[in-house]
Amino acid sequence: MLDAAFFRQWLTSAAALVDREAERLTELDSPIGDADHGSNLQRGFAAVAATLEKDAPTTPGAVLTLAGRQLISTVGGASGPLYGTLLRRTGKALGDAAEVSEQEFADALRTGVDAVGALGGAVPGDKTMLDALVPAVDALSESFGAAREAANEGALATTPLQARKGRASYLGERSIGHQDPGATSSALLFDALVQTAE
Ligand code: ADP
Ligand code: MG
Ligand code: MG
Repeated sequence: MLDAAFFRQWLTSAAALVDREAERLTELDSPIGDADHGSNLQRGFAAVAATLEKDAPTTPGAVLTLAGRQLISTVGGASGPLYGTLLRRTGKALGDAAEVSEQEFADALRTGVDAVGALGGAVPGDKTMLDALVPAVDALSESFGAAREAANEGALATTPLQARKGRASYLGERSIGHQDPGATSSALLFDALVQTAE
């Protein structure tokens, strides 16, 4: 079973990975965006980690909804509301249970991923974070490791795609040949999940 401490640790690990990879995420956002994805998420996840340390909510649902709200309020740019919605809606789906099973988490995360699709109007293949999130959540019932692998593969597979949503879509065919920054940061969330479960 997964408790609030597990989810706090997950997001703290995610913040550390985002911090470590910020420069690379911003570099990926240079040719097909505005070169701020790493700094956007670095700021957002640092705020999440600080809030969770101060408040330490006691249920998985409360940890995720608080983190989601924090991302929405600290990250300007498309990724803030999208990741914020992912965490908030996942948290809401978990309700107020003190512990949740891995399957309950997988089901809740699917609700969160669906909400990202509804908010941004993107589907897999549009070269967005959903290209990592959707295969990862599909694999999550199997294991955290399988989800991480699916997310990483999904992120790599964005390179030959033409962007149909977000800033990169303004480039049309010139968006082809670059890995999507948001899909890359989404894969970090699953790296952090595996780290937390170890
Ligand atoms: P901005 O584009 O506002 O500068 P970021 O650089 O932080 O925001 O985030 C860009 C990432 O957000 C993209 O790489 C993509 O993965 C994701 N993204 C952008 N628009 C959408 C959308 N409509 N649906 C899903 N993800 C999106
Ligand atoms: Mg950007
Ligand atoms: Mg921006």
